Amino acid sequence: MKKIGLLGGMSWESSLEYYRIMNELVKLKLGGSHSAKCLLHSFDFHEIEELQHKGEWKALTNLLVEEAENLKRAGAEFIVICTNTMHLIAPDIERKTGLKVIHIADATGDEIIKRNVNKVLLLGTKFTMEGSFYKERLENKGIEVVIPNELDRQIIHDIIYDELVLGILKPESKQSYIKIINKMIEEEGITGVVLGCTEIPLLIKQVDVTVEVFDTTEIHSRAAVDYSINE
Ligand code: GLU
Repeated sequence: MKKIGLLGGMSWESSLEYYRIMNELVKLKLGGSHSAKCLLHSFDFHEIEELQHKGEWKALTNLLVEEAENLKRAGAEFIVICTNTMHLIAPDIERKTGLKVIHIADATGDEIIKRNVNKVLLLGTKFTMEGSFYKERLENKGIEVVIPNELDRQIIHDIIYDELVLGILKPESKQSYIKIINKMIEEEGITGVVLGCTEIPLLIKQVDVTVEVFDTTEIHSRAAVDYSINE
C-alpha cells in the first residue's frame, strides 16, 4: 500500500470526510483491521481563504508546494489535494515536488463517463465554476459542462465560505442549492450535477435531486485509495 500525502484543512470539515471515507474503503477492500496509510498536513484555512480572495495564487502555490515537499520528506508517495479549488495549482505541485497528484477533476470525469452522463452542472466556488482549470479537464473527456448564472454563482460561493467551511448547514441554503439545480435541469437539460466543492456533499445528497450526483469528496477519496492499493 502506497502512503498517501494529504493537503487538507481546506476546510477541515471536508478533510474529516476524506479521512473517514479513505479508511472505510481500505477496510472494505483489504478487510480485517486494515486502514489507510496516510500523512496529513492541515492548513489554517483562514490564511488560505484570505489569499484566494486577494488573488494571491503565487503565494498559495508556494505554501502548498512547501507542505507537499514536507509530506514527501516524511514518506508520502503521492499527493491528494483535499479541495477542488486548489487544483488550480495542481500542475505546479506535481512539477515542483515530482510526486503524482491524483487530480479531482480527472477522477470525477472518469466517474461521469462510467455512469453514462454527458451533460453536467458544475457547482463549486467561483474560482472553480468560472475558471478553466476544472471545466476544461471534464470537457477534454467529452463531457458537456454548464455553470449557473452570475447571481446563482454568487449564492453558491457565499454559502460555501460563510457557512459550509464553518460547519454550518442551513435548511434554507440546501433549498437554494436544490432550486438552482432544478432550474438547470429545466433550462439546460443537465443529467448530472458535480458537487465540485468538497463541502457541498455535507449539504446535498443524491436523494435531494432527480439527476445523478457526483460527490467529489467521495470520488476523490476512492481514486486515492485505488491508487494507493493497486498501483
Ligand atoms: N473545499 C472547497 C473546494 O473543494 C472550497 C474551499 C477552498 O477554497 O479550498 O473547492
